[in-house]
Amino acid sequence: MTDLITRLPKVRGDYAMKDAMSAHTWFGVGGPADVIFSPVDEDDLSHFLAHCDADIPILPIGAGSNLLVRDGGVSGVVIKLTDHMKHIHHDGTVVTAQTGALDAEVARYASKAGLTGLEFLIGIPGTVGGGLRMNAGAYGSEFKDITMIAHGFDRAGNPISATPTEMGMAYRHSDAPADWIFTSASMQARPGDHAAIRTRMKEIVTSRGDAQPRGVRTGGSTFANPDGGKAWQEIDRAGCRGLAVGAAQVSEKHCNFLINNGGATAEEIETLGETVRARVLASGGPDLRWEIRRIGRVLTTSKQQETSQ
Ligand SMILES: Cc1cc2nc3c(=O)[nH]c(=O)nc-3n(C[C@H](O)[C@H](O)[C@H](O)COP(=O)(O)OP(=O)(O)OC[C@H]3O[C@@H](n4cnc5c(N)ncnc54)[C@H](O)[C@@H]3O)c2cc1C
Repeated sequence: MTDLITRLPKVRGDYAMKDAMSAHTWFGVGGPADVIFSPVDEDDLSHFLAHCDADIPILPIGAGSNLLVRDGGVSGVVIKLTDHMKHIHHDGTVVTAQTGALDAEVARYASKAGLTGLEFLIGIPGTVGGGLRMNAGAYGSEFKDITMIAHGFDRAGNPISATPTEMGMAYRHSDAPADWIFTSASMQARPGDHAAIRTRMKEIVTSRGDAQPRGVRTGGSTFANPDGGKAWQEIDRAGCRGLAVGAAQVSEKHCNFLINNGGATAEEIETLGETVRARVLASGGPDLRWEIRRIGRVLTTSKQQETSQ
């Protein structure tokens, strides 16, 4: 660990060592990251990437709302953009946000500017960066529908820019190279009525509160919907509603949500998810695909094993 920090380039932002990832994820689980880097701006990030040895693993994170970080923690450097890189502005009907901005802040910003088309962002608890990577969406709209162009850097610090088509954005999926770190996105909105926009956002917030568990530690939808079906229905049909492993439980309210009831380990949550997948398959259902990203080291008594999916 000490060796790692001495190998990292001088930056203007902060390096934090051994910070528990449980403090940076919605599930509230995850062991320590070797180092967490919070760049102050794009130049700081590109300088870091250009001067950080290629053998050091890098992981960008946003709000950690789609991450299950394993109990052994994360090797290398986690890059956290939510501290400084969250500026939002607009020019006409184009809203441009740095990728550390929360989706909900972008929705509120657009609303104040009298711009419509971005209301769905109010219900997604992630950042613009996580939204681009996951092609997050709700209520019939996705990031690929609103994004005109995304900017960022590759692992070597070279600038990249791409449209949704160029990134092959599809349902909860993007073909953008895994080493790209997005730093900003320009999103197309339309002139709208401020009151109507606010009403729509309120409806979305209310409807989510009715359908999803509130005030709990979760990663949102665990599995992507299978072709032509709904993951929650398959899980319900397989009898998994309320199923528990330790302090991890399938939500009674929305059974595609796994919940940390307090003190769950990442291992319990992952085991629960795999148990659900196996039961759905055994009951004649589809092989569900994890939508939640599982990353980091499995904690074992003798050694830590690195896995990432
Ligand atoms: C209660 C709840 C409700 C949810 N509802 C929805 C929903 O309605 N629709 C939906 O689509 N999702 C939903 N989600 C899942 C989640 O909010 C989205 O996937 C969101 O886009 C993740 O953003 P994030 O910033 O939290 O990303 P993180 O969870 O931090 O990271 C997710 C992935 O994105 C990558 N990433 C993050 N930032 C960057 C960046 N700047 N550059 C490159 N890669 C990056 C990470 O490396 C990781 O692979 C929900 C989650 C919760 C907890």
